[in-house]
Amino acid sequence: MTYDLIIIGAGPAGITASVYAARKRINFLVVSMDIGGQTAWSGDVENYTGYQFITGPDLSAKFEEHMRTYKVNLKEGEKATKIEVREGVIHVRTDKGEYAAKTVIVASGKKSRELGVPGEREYKNKGLTYCATCDAPLFSGKAVAVIGGGNSALDAALQLLKIASHVYLINITPSLGGDAIMREKVQKSGLVTVMNSSFVTSVAGDKMVKAITVKMAGKEETLAVEGIFVEIGLIPNSGFVKGVDKNAAGEIKVDAYNRTNIPGIFAAGDVTDVPEKQIIIAAGEGAKAALGAFRYLNQSR
Ligand SMILES: Cc1cc2nc3c(=O)[nH]c(=O)nc-3n(C[C@H](O)[C@H](O)[C@H](O)COP(=O)(O)OP(=O)(O)OC[C@H]3O[C@@H](n4cnc5c(N)ncnc54)[C@H](O)[C@@H]3O)c2cc1C
Repeated sequence: MTYDLIIIGAGPAGITASVYAARKRINFLVVSMDIGGQTAWSGDVENYTGYQFITGPDLSAKFEEHMRTYKVNLKEGEKATKIEVREGVIHVRTDKGEYAAKTVIVASGKKSRELGVPGEREYKNKGLTYCATCDAPLFSGKAVAVIGGGNSALDAALQLLKIASHVYLINITPSLGGDAIMREKVQKSGLVTVMNSSFVTSVAGDKMVKAITVKMAGKEETLAVEGIFVEIGLIPNSGFVKGVDKNAAGEIKVDAYNRTNIPGIFAAGDVTDVPEKQIIIAAGEGAKAALGAFRYLNQSR
C-alpha cells in the first residue's frame, strides 16, 4: 500500500504535523523511535504559549493526548534508516520494515553529541547519561560531573546541585556561556566547582562510573564521581536522509513551505536549518509541513 504521507518523528514537529494531517483526512503513517522527543527530557518549560509553566514531560503528554484524539496509525519504537525515491514513490526503510508514500515529512529532531573518549560508550547508562532531567534524581548524595558550558550544562548543574553532594562543571572554553541569569545562579550556589579551559580524556569505573579524568593547563586530574552528565550540544538526526541538501551542520535545508530539494520530501523542526530550536517553533514548522504536503498531494492528483 502507498500512503499519502509518512511522518518520521513524534516530537513537537511530528506530532503537530500528524494533528494537521489527521484534520485534513490525509491517509498517513507516523514512524518514530519515541513520543515527545527532546520535549520529554526538557525540565521546566516557561515559553510555550498558553502555559506559563509546564514541565517537559507534562507538555509531551499533552501533545501525545492531542494526537491520540485522532485515529493515528503510529509505528512507535521504530527507527527510519533510509529514504529512497523509486519511480516517483518514496520508500521509507526502517529497522522493522519498509513503507511507501507519496510524501514524507522528516521531523527527526536532534540527538546529543558524544564526547568521543575512552569509557564513554562502556559507561553509557551506567552512570554516564545525556539527560539531566531524566536521570538527575538517581544521583542523590553523590558527586557528579557535568560536561559543557552552555545553557544545557548550566540547566543540568542547577538541577543537580539540589540533589548531588557536589557538582564539577567541566567546560572546554575559558569562561561559561549560556544565559547570565543561569551562570549567576550556578556561581552563587557555592556547590559547583567550575573548571574552565578543561576537557575530559577518559571515563573509568567497575560496573558503574567511578571516575573521570580531566586535562587542564596540560595536567591530568582524576575526579572521583559516580555520575557524568554530557551536555555538549546536539546534532541533527539527518544521516538516514540521503540526497537532500543540508547545511554544514547537517541540518536539512527547507524553504518557507518546508520543502526540501526533493519533490514530495518535506522537513520540519530541529532537524532543519530553520533558525532557533524551540518547542513552539518546531510545532509551528510541523503544522506548515503538513499543510505543504497537503497542497502538494492536491496539486499532483
Ligand atoms: C534539555 C532540553 C531543554 C529544553 N528546553 C526547552 C524549553 O524550555 N523551551 C523550548 O521551547 N525548547 C526547549 N528545548 C528544545 C526543544 O525541546 C526542541 O526544540 C524541540 O523538541 C524540537 O522538536 P522536534 O520535533 O523538531 O524534534 P525532537 O524533539 O528532537 O523529536 C524528534 C523525534 O524524532 C524521532 N526520531 C529521531 N530519529 C528518528 C529515526 N531515524 N526514525 C524514527 N524516529 C526518529 C525521535 O524519537 C523523536 O520522537 C529543550 C531541549 C532540551 C534538550
